[in-house]
Amino acid sequence: MYDASGKLVAEYSTVVESVENAKVAYLTADHLGSPRINTDRDGNVTARHDYMPFGEEITPALTAQRTTGVGYVGDAVRKQFTGYERDNELNLDYAKARMYGYGHWRFTSPDDFLNDSDVADPQSWNLYVYCRNNPLGCTDPTGKEAVVNITVDEKTKKGKIVIAATIGIWTKDTRISQADMKKAAEKIQKDIQGAWKGAVNKDGIEYEVSTVVSVRAFKDAAAAEDYGSGNIIEMAKGPIDPDNNVDSNAGSGGFFTGHDAGRWNIDSVMSGTTAQHEFGHLLGVDNKPGFTLMNTDPSARHPTMTAKDFDWTFGREVTEQRRQARLTTVIEDRERGWRRKEVDTGQPRSSNQHYTFRAPRLAWWKSR
Ligand SMILES: [Zn+2]
Repeated sequence: MYDASGKLVAEYSTVVESVENAKVAYLTADHLGSPRINTDRDGNVTARHDYMPFGEEITPALTAQRTTGVGYVGDAVRKQFTGYERDNELNLDYAKARMYGYGHWRFTSPDDFLNDSDVADPQSWNLYVYCRNNPLGCTDPTGKEAVVNITVDEKTKKGKIVIAATIGIWTKDTRISQADMKKAAEKIQKDIQGAWKGAVNKDGIEYEVSTVVSVRAFKDAAAAEDYGSGNIIEMAKGPIDPDNNVDSNAGSGGFFTGHDAGRWNIDSVMSGTTAQHEFGHLLGVDNKPGFTLMNTDPSARHPTMTAKDFDWTFGREVTEQRRQARLTTVIEDRERGWRRKEVDTGQPRSSNQHYTFRAPRLAWWKSR
């Protein structure tokens, strides 16, 4: 059960009890989504849970202060660290795509290398590492905000870039009807798919960009999250920050949630270029100057992706795709003696190479 802001407030037991014995537990979670104080229907504390940064539970056996008398006892609620379901027989947390070993601070199987590895971010090279070793700043419930597939045919010099994403929209504003939400979902899908497409030439390759985005309206943020929407956007009526003339926000509340979150003014979504601009933030691009899609000012904004938008969004990745697609030879660096060096021969390894990357979550929450 979730409250109006999408926070988990209660979990019902899966053990079927008689009517007299059935109980409900109310969970009070911290900023990471870990339930810390569980209470019964009368408000009595049934259990308290404290965690080390990487998720090991601080039990009474570890400290003198946390005694069973003040509620540090085991209970039947399975939702534990960051909302993961804890398996006490395996000592692992169920993290949907993988099992997380909270005792080792590592996932038990590697991440797909092409999904979430970045040359500039050494923490991303370790495929077992949890949350880039920043467990107090982020959580990793499922990942996947947008997936970008790049394919280049080196013979014909043609490339294909396909972006795939899911967006769930919801509202708490009673002035916005369900019919309005349905129209907004259609408009957002049409605007994003229409703007993030076209042909751009870079380094002699003609790239054809296309976008497939599914947009659905949900009754609240929790329903969108349960459905598995990669991005969850609140629809607001009017500017979300009138004092500063802010019409949409890419990251309000997004930092401590697993998905990319935001608040968009439904009026500017319906009449302007808000959806496609904010989608650029989803792909990891900040606000940029000039007559481009990523200009903050709607009146100075190009309504569709320009060559510059393409470069900001995919420039590094298409270069990396071609680097990986080329044949390399390993030579010894004689000056340093022991070192071996990879040398690009300039020859394509094969005519058709795929490259996939996932839009970053942490980079864009602060922009609007
Ligand atoms: Zn912006």
